[in-house]
Amino acid sequence: MQKFAYFDTGHEFPEEIIMAAGFTPYKILGDVHVGTAAANDFLFQYLCPFARGCMAEALSDSEQWAGIGFAHGCDATNRQFDVWKAHVKHTFLHWLDVPMKINKTAQTFYRQDLNQFIKALNRHFDLSISREQLRAAINRSNKIKTVMKQLAALRAEKDIPNPDYFEMTRMAVQEPKEQLLLNLEVMLDDWQNRDPFPKDKTPILLTGSDVTYKEWMEVLEVSGFRVVRDDLSLGERYFNTTIQDFDDPVEALVDYNCRIPQPATKVPSDNRMQYLLQILDETKVEGVILQTLKFCEPYALDAPWVIETLKHHGYKVIPLEREFTPTLDHQTITRLETFKELL
Ligand code: SF4
Repeated sequence: MQKFAYFDTGHEFPEEIIMAAGFTPYKILGDVHVGTAAANDFLFQYLCPFARGCMAEALSDSEQWAGIGFAHGCDATNRQFDVWKAHVKHTFLHWLDVPMKINKTAQTFYRQDLNQFIKALNRHFDLSISREQLRAAINRSNKIKTVMKQLAALRAEKDIPNPDYFEMTRMAVQEPKEQLLLNLEVMLDDWQNRDPFPKDKTPILLTGSDVTYKEWMEVLEVSGFRVVRDDLSLGERYFNTTIQDFDDPVEALVDYNCRIPQPATKVPSDNRMQYLLQILDETKVEGVILQTLKFCEPYALDAPWVIETLKHHGYKVIPLEREFTPTLDHQTITRLETFKELL
């Protein structure tokens, strides 16, 4: 099944529509080992390096993709859409204007937007995406989310290194869904039989910019931390919520978009904070790691408020800014080790 690539920044893209169209949704994550050089000729250096890495991947691989979808997330998505239109080879490139709000007006707007996307796919690929196909895709998606949630819950009980969790979440957005479900079920069996949570690791909640490469999860691992809860797109935002059954499956996708743990790009920001406080209440952690990728404005701008609010509720928080690099940053490891001693 051919890949249909998408660029979003907060789990905005409706993968189920692409599944119903007969393609494999493939979330562009860039390749931290390749870097951003190929995109630097087209994009300003102050755009976040993850987004530049995504364009570098598109410049190199887009001819293998049936199409590319952009979903409005942070400013990197809308600033880049026109640049990609001019410079990335494509036969189908679609902008999905996912609203920043989740109120009734935004929902009406988003419903029309999704229906236009379906029409554009039908027209370009000579398809006729039916409600039944969309329902089947939603059903498969829900099964995947359910197993992922079971896997994620084991982080607080079993020996699940951070890079293993990262790999589970990466597979979910890049691999063909039929095989993915089988692989996740095998993984569940493996994780259920792992040793108990290691005594030398400290459970924490991870928030902030999406972590899109496993080497940064390794930084947390060698610093002695285990991520047992998070609100990332390559994480709980992706699987925490299942898609409800509606007569109109497009309506179900609109409703889903309103109920997922919200990223920093959405307004009001209180929804994001509510989720953080809820999961901190559900799972015992020793502290919170709030990391932002360099030039990631949405999460950097929210950081002072998030830190202050969490501290006000009695949680210990460490803020970190990171580069887009697979190299283990020993300065960060030292800071994290000191934080661990203070907990
Ligand atoms: S890291 Fe931040 S600035 Fe970069 S794409 Fe993600 S949300 Fe946008």
